[in-house]
Amino acid sequence: MNRSEFEAKLNEVYGGTVKPLNSYINERATLCFKCEQCGLKFFGKPSHIVGKEHQRHECGMPYGDHYGERLTKVSVTHNRKKNKSAVIKPEEFNRLIWEDYSYQQIAQELQVNPNIIKDYFKDEGLI
Ligand SMILES: [Zn+2]
Repeated sequence: MNRSEFEAKLNEVYGGTVKPLNSYINERATLCFKCEQCGLKFFGKPSHIVGKEHQRHECGMPYGDHYGERLTKVSVTHNRKKNKSAVIKPEEFNRLIWEDYSYQQIAQELQVNPNIIKDYFKDEGLI
């Protein structure tokens, strides 16, 4: 998928409401996107954003329901065990991925079980 194919696909899937904020490199390189419809900015791989249904952007849910659900579960588990005010912020989580933190570093930053982050990394093909 080259840049113009990607942009055509993006417009087809989102009707022009989702725009990339960085230059497209390839379908596996994470970009920052903005959705004009719900106003969210979110990170995603081009192959996901225009990929399978559950990997796409859903308005009001920056990461789609697949990862969104998982992050909610992580937060709930974490809340119950430790600090009630500690919740994984998806923006924070994605910023760490964006900045190339390892899963161990992310787990440390967010004070969660590294295995949870590791699973996510495996799913994403990051390790
Ligand atoms: Zn949206």
